Amino acid sequence: MPATILVVEDEPAIQELVVCNLELAGHRALRAHSAEQALEMVRAALPDLVVLDWMLPGMSGLEFARRLRADRRTQRVPLIMLTARADEQDKLAGLETGADDYLTKPFSPRELNARVKAVLRRRAPQATDDTVEISGLKLDPASYAVTGGGAPLALGPTDFRLLHFLMTHAGRVYARAELLDQVWGERALLEERTVDVHIRRLRKALARSGHDRLIHTVRGAGYRFSADG
Ligand code: CA
Repeated sequence: MPATILVVEDEPAIQELVVCNLELAGHRALRAHSAEQALEMVRAALPDLVVLDWMLPGMSGLEFARRLRADRRTQRVPLIMLTARADEQDKLAGLETGADDYLTKPFSPRELNARVKAVLRRRAPQATDDTVEISGLKLDPASYAVTGGGAPLALGPTDFRLLHFLMTHAGRVYARAELLDQVWGERALLEERTVDVHIRRLRKALARSGHDRLIHTVRGAGYRFSADG
């Protein structure tokens, strides 16, 4: 499934280049021309990844990165920084701020896409097309198919995304607000019971192969997907 990638870059030509390449690679790219605008956009909906220019008018890329990392809601958003200078000090400062990777301008589209793919795989596996299999439950994002013990299971698009997120983050408890952010991408507009409605539907769909047992309700906390044993 396509990743939603926010590109924060003030130079129109470079932004166009980055956005076009991300779209050609099958992602959904959003544009911000300043860190201030990017903060507004992140507040409204969490992207799967941010590609961030270092030198921006107003708030710098470094300060934007610090703010993302300082807020519990956004601290895990994967971040790739762009810089015009191959300066070792910049690179260190960027990585210390919590950037997951670093690209020096000029970079090739192939290099950009390879880095994006690697960071998504490591930090946002729900935004990749990699097949996930846990305790006999298999989800293939590329063909949009879920099977339980080899038998196909029918899931609606939202339930599919919810299951994909839970399977790629097995073992961790997620609060309803976090799931709205991660799966729906716009928690401000939705009520938390929306999550309960979809969990119920998902369990019903997985019950055909008995895999509803892998989804656990954690009282007062949220939901957790766990492998057997
Ligand atoms: Ca710039």
